[in-house]
Amino acid sequence: MRRVTILGATGSIGQNTIDLIDRNRDAYQVVALTGGRNIERLARDAIRLGAEVAVTAHDDLLDDLRAALGQSGVAAAAGAEALTEAAARPADWVMSAIIGAAGLRPGLAALEQGTTLALANKETLVAAGALVMQTARSKGGTIIPVDSEHSAVFQALGGEDMASVERVILTASGGAFRDWPIEKLRSATPEQAATHPNWDMGQRITIDSASMFNKALEVIEAREFFGLAPDQIEVLIHPESMVHALVGHVDGGILAHLGAPDMRHAIGYALHWPERAPLPVERLDLAKLGQLTFRAPDMARYPALDLARQVMERGGLAGAAFNAAKERALDGFIAGHISFTDMADVVGRVLDRIEARPGHIDAPFTLDNVLQMDHLARYEADNVMAERQ
Ligand code: NDP
Ligand code: MG
Repeated sequence: MRRVTILGATGSIGQNTIDLIDRNRDAYQVVALTGGRNIERLARDAIRLGAEVAVTAHDDLLDDLRAALGQSGVAAAAGAEALTEAAARPADWVMSAIIGAAGLRPGLAALEQGTTLALANKETLVAAGALVMQTARSKGGTIIPVDSEHSAVFQALGGEDMASVERVILTASGGAFRDWPIEKLRSATPEQAATHPNWDMGQRITIDSASMFNKALEVIEAREFFGLAPDQIEVLIHPESMVHALVGHVDGGILAHLGAPDMRHAIGYALHWPERAPLPVERLDLAKLGQLTFRAPDMARYPALDLARQVMERGGLAGAAFNAAKERALDGFIAGHISFTDMADVVGRVLDRIEARPGHIDAPFTLDNVLQMDHLARYEADNVMAERQ
């Protein structure tokens, strides 16, 4: 039996992962499930799957979790340290599906034990790519990307030598406001931004899809994971979300990965890698689809893409600053403090302010420095947003 742990089990990716494990329950021993505020779901799944331990990120919810687990025999734990300890429990496969920078420490703890890490938490690579890749290398761990575009690139590469890769093209649906008049974006509400044309995902990543901050993170993620230069990564709007990514080789040939927009495809690929197994996803009927369309992204509509370029060119800890500032700006938008279009503005200003503090972005790439940069960027984002009110 394979020992598996799911970090972020109560979320959208976590639940899809559980769906796949549930279909072949005898093949897996569930080590740890972690969640945040959704104690009922966490306890229900932990009991059902016979997990060794269930962990909530929030100390104040430990009693609730204990009560919900009752006499089931599943151990309960809470807090950031407990999350990291859960990730460090011996396991053959760990799904990293916590949202945001909170996933960094647990993800690193899983890699420290040299396991296979299925990485949905893209923020881990954006904030600390060099550290994460180095940890995987030095501890003999393997990272399999779960973000659909990166899983698609990984699959299209098929183990081919990166030296023959000229460029990688990540597709983007364009999000909720793809066809809105650009002047209207200022007045977009969080509810409007949280509806995705094709994918069913968590609220935060869905809003990030509308602003293309999600794609901005993904461009940086691709650079870190595949070791590409910034100008080797392109973004293409593809409203149907059937082609997830394309890999262009030096001979001009392009290999694409297609599939229905269902995250169980990328999750299942990572779960079964290096083999392939049947997955309960819709099969594409290309004749019925008739056509697939593509267009270049309008950079005025999606300023986050330009910010990603700046971050990649700047290097160092700029990714950690970018991710943290984005998370705070998104909090500000969801809370109604800033407008949809203010988010990119806030992030751009935070990057400028941090750049103006000598030595910060070029500090050595240690976990402490990444976390310090994360704090600093959140602090500056709060300042910038407070000044606007
Ligand atoms: P969700 O918001 O649906 O779920 C997030 C999970 O993280 C939940 O289990 C949540 O717990 C938990 N969580 C929230 N805050 C914290 C915290 N501070 N510490 C520890 N755990 C926390 O997110 P998604 O499943 O949509 O996304 C998860 C990751 O996967 C993200 O990095 C996202 O970018 C990436 N991803 C997601 C895709 C998708 O289809 N959803 C596609 C590609 C990538 P609770 O809900 O109990 O509070
Ligand atoms: Mg993606």
